[in-house]
Amino acid sequence: MNTTQEIEHLACLIIGSGPAGYTAAIYAARADLKPVVYTGIVPGGQLTQTTEVDNFPGYPNGITGPVMMEDLRAQAERFGTEVRFGYVTKVDFSTSGGVHTVEIDAVKTVTADTVIIATGATAKWLGLPSEEKYNGFGVSACAVCDGFFFKGQDVAIVGAGDTAAEEATYLAKLCKTVHMFVRRDEFRASKAMVNRVLNTPNIVVYFNTETEEILGDGQGVTGVRVIDTKSQESQVIDVTGFFVAIGHKPNTELFQGVLDMDETGYLITQPNVTATNIPGVFACGDVQDHVYRQAITAAGTGCMAALEAERYLASKGE
Ligand code: NDP
Repeated sequence: MNTTQEIEHLACLIIGSGPAGYTAAIYAARADLKPVVYTGIVPGGQLTQTTEVDNFPGYPNGITGPVMMEDLRAQAERFGTEVRFGYVTKVDFSTSGGVHTVEIDAVKTVTADTVIIATGATAKWLGLPSEEKYNGFGVSACAVCDGFFFKGQDVAIVGAGDTAAEEATYLAKLCKTVHMFVRRDEFRASKAMVNRVLNTPNIVVYFNTETEEILGDGQGVTGVRVIDTKSQESQVIDVTGFFVAIGHKPNTELFQGVLDMDETGYLITQPNVTATNIPGVFACGDVQDHVYRQAITAAGTGCMAALEAERYLASKGE
């Protein structure tokens, strides 16, 4: 850590600027903790990479992800939150309830009595240029968020884990046909989830099948070209939506060996609260939630983290 500069001390440092981070900031600022948010490299988080958000309560006509994140930021700033563009490069958390030290952009050091981690997760993508081209225009990594836009239409989903199985059955309720591409000759998902998929008549499963290209007309998705890896035969399937459900990666590299995490890297919080294994360090949003992963649940846990940080400081007499 850099020791030559004057070190700034904060009551509450929030790492990450998605719905969890900004909601924590709104609550922490209103509790007069004078929070500072470091945004990370994608200010506003995953929602800035989506188009319409129709399921966040309070927006009867829907809202775009980027505008919603601007609103959340403005609301946090209204109560005195300081939002700074910056990336946390190192943490040195006190295990004994003392002051935590955090390095920003490898040059600046701040200390904090409480740290709220809201660094989120990143959806995994196939890595095809056509996937990137139509992301937000028919390509999505969240069926619960975007499935509604494809009501009555034919869609495709790639993946074979629990998320893909769950999202395929979700889509099947809305869409005409769900074409599901599984890259091996078996699912990874649990037996119960697989049975649900196989027993849903409008889900068509293609085993040993990989996506070669997502096809479009420049405005949106019109189809997908897939290849059967056994027969090496390609085919084009007409769809208007293409959902990628091949897993998420929680953004927790910084905390490896420091905070308790599960085998996939999600931070483990104590039951029904946002406390981590280190006193004064809280985690909220997708970084600790591989089940719901919704903006509204992230916001809810962000609120919890700020209230818990406030109570933690009060219990220490600060
Ligand atoms: P997983 O890592 O479990 O599964 C990812 C799936 O995507 C695998 O089947 C994998 O295939 C496939 N995949 C990965 N890369 C590619 C690629 N490039 N092309 C095609 N397919 C690919 O992620 P999930 O998000 O499904 O689940 C994460 C965790 O969350 C799991 O522990 C899961 O059990 C849990 N979960 C639980 C739920 C519940 O209980 N209701 C709901 C959702 C998730 P392959 O199998 O060949 O490796």
